[in-house]
Amino acid sequence: MIEVSNLVKAYGSLLALDGISFSAGEREIIGFLGPNGAGKSTCLNIMTGYLSSTSGKVTIDGEDISEKPELVKKNIGFLPEQPPLYGDMTVFEYLSFVYDLKGVKFNREKHLEEILKVTRLSDVKKRLIKHLSKGYKQRVGIAQALVGNPKVLIFDEPTVGLDPKQIIEVRNLIRTLGREHTVILSSHILSEVQSVADRIVIINEGKILADERTDSISRAVNESARYSVKICGPQKEVLAVLKEVNGVSYVEIAGEREKDSFTYRIESENGYDMRKNLFMAMAERAWPIISLETESASLEEVFIKLTDTGLAEKKQRRGGRR
Ligand code: ADP
Repeated sequence: MIEVSNLVKAYGSLLALDGISFSAGEREIIGFLGPNGAGKSTCLNIMTGYLSSTSGKVTIDGEDISEKPELVKKNIGFLPEQPPLYGDMTVFEYLSFVYDLKGVKFNREKHLEEILKVTRLSDVKKRLIKHLSKGYKQRVGIAQALVGNPKVLIFDEPTVGLDPKQIIEVRNLIRTLGREHTVILSSHILSEVQSVADRIVIINEGKILADERTDSISRAVNESARYSVKICGPQKEVLAVLKEVNGVSYVEIAGEREKDSFTYRIESENGYDMRKNLFMAMAERAWPIISLETESASLEEVFIKLTDTGLAEKKQRRGGRR
């Protein structure tokens, strides 16, 4: 459905994209992950025809975006980081305006009502956009991308600035849309793309670092899990016993004393779940475990992990042969 090959974009002397290649199949949700400044928006803006590339090619459904921009744009629904909303229009007026802009041929009323239903905006369709909350505005932004029923949907950081409840709603909506569309979703937060994407493309400094199925990225990241554990017992002795628990590779004291318990940071050996051993070792000595929490990896740690496991290197070699 989407083929991006060897995309290069220079802003003066800055190489924002340095030979990006990846593809997305029909009804696939791709997570486009990278830290701020990695080149995600630049790449998405080129893919949607908003920006020209220095070199390289993007095809959507077999058509080159630079050769047939109008046709290709009809196949893409885009939610930029700052959605282009008009506050003085009602939700319905705005979607109707986008309908005209895109020259859509479906029955207007029926098509827009369907979109309002999917995005759960039917109840606010007569409200002025400027009076809506941020979460609703974001859904209006997603709704405008759906006008014309494009095959490909591209969302640039769709959950930035939303509260946790709104984030879950937008994630669920994206999952639903992925059943009918090819979706590309950019984010700088691993858990964000992990929860919805089938595949994750990791970009850093304008280059693709990894392009793998979400489960294999999650496995690579979780292989040596890190926990924060609070244990009630004498610190020195607890620490000594923790070091001896089968499967524990690293222990340190983390945080202040809280009554008679202390918090420890523990890392487990690659792929080994040491939690049962930990429980038994503490139970044997009557030192209760007050809490046990998994610490999630940061994006920087993910980069290191992927490089360590060879996933990223594999990708770079593959990229180099293109
Ligand atoms: P991301 O979306 O991953 O945060 P961007 O694509 O916005 O990354 O930016 C990639 C790099 O290109 C950054 O170093 C950014 O400062 C630079 N950049 C983006 N847009 C422009 C522009 N219009 N002119 C000059 N530099 C730009």
